[in-house]
Amino acid sequence: MIADHHTGMTRIGELLIDSEYGAVSDKNEIAGVGHRVVHGGETFQDPTLIDDAVIDAIEANAFLAPLHNPANLTGIAVARSIFQQAPQVAVFDTAFHQTIPMRAYLYAIPFDLYTQHKVRRYGFHGTSHAYVAEQAAHYLGLEPAALNVITIHIGNGVSMAAVQHGKCIDTSMGMTPLAGLMMGTRSGDVDPALPFFLTRHLGLTIEESQDLLNTRSGLKGICGTNDMREILASRDQGDEHAQIALDLYTYRIKKYLGAYWAALGRLDAVVFTAGIGENAPYVRSGCCAGLEDLGLAIDEERNCERRVGLRDISAGSSRVRVLVVPTNEAFRIAQETSRIIGSRLNRAL
Ligand code: ADP
Repeated sequence: MIADHHTGMTRIGELLIDSEYGAVSDKNEIAGVGHRVVHGGETFQDPTLIDDAVIDAIEANAFLAPLHNPANLTGIAVARSIFQQAPQVAVFDTAFHQTIPMRAYLYAIPFDLYTQHKVRRYGFHGTSHAYVAEQAAHYLGLEPAALNVITIHIGNGVSMAAVQHGKCIDTSMGMTPLAGLMMGTRSGDVDPALPFFLTRHLGLTIEESQDLLNTRSGLKGICGTNDMREILASRDQGDEHAQIALDLYTYRIKKYLGAYWAALGRLDAVVFTAGIGENAPYVRSGCCAGLEDLGLAIDEERNCERRVGLRDISAGSSRVRVLVVPTNEAFRIAQETSRIIGSRLNRAL
């Protein structure tokens, strides 16, 4: 059991120099530390070298992610004290989505709520969407700036991004990660008036409504579990609720796929990633069913093949390529950290 951030990070430091498992012989060889920071608000469009001003800005955005940013800041403070010689870089979950135009990020509510209280769509999972979009471009032999792709991250959290010429133009999560697709335990899109109904008719408090939509909804709300492996096994045994949950889940993704396809105009590829996106052929198949006439078809044999690494599961006839790309957020954070530290070193030289 790891008691707190300090104990955990100290242990990581020990393991890194461990003679059997370690990667370096001395802590001072560590060139930099990359941190996943959930919310960068509108302040951060890119990974950023951490200094005191950056820490203040992450703190200033904490009202947008009250559960995550303070924990991220504790991690940064501890890492700065343990790896004193190493520059620290913050890589934001929201940064990739900062290129979304106003028509896609603004809610149709009084404008002051945006200007004064920063209420807008931000989007999350940005590190994953950016990484798999880039991997897809690389596989297709294209520059990222030449590719129009829809990335579908299906883990416990689920989100999609429409990426035009390498830049995100829309994403399904919103001001918070509750919006958009149906998830493991989150509802995704519901009628915005639902919390009023829960309060007025069922007497729920704000906290109870929040808990219901975040932790008791989604797959779990419909069929009792958020573990996709269990759900697929139950469906195979004829469980009706498992089937209903899967129908809702894949239908919602398909609907967003159509919406983002329209927003992009031209679609080169669709990418499935994360725990479910990489491992559940049934889900991929359901999301793509019936799109053949639009130019998107998967090859069921390729879809069901069990292989590691990037896979092309498109049918020969498919104009749009359908890819399974394993995400690797930790690797992407390391890449970005190295890029930022490299440019810092270059500037210093
Ligand atoms: P997180 O958002 O917590 O990082 P993951 O990306 O690890 O989540 O995805 C977790 C989900 O992936 C769970 O619902 C799990 O059941 C599902 N999953 C993992 N492996 C498989 C598999 N082989 N087949 C189907 N679903 C899988």
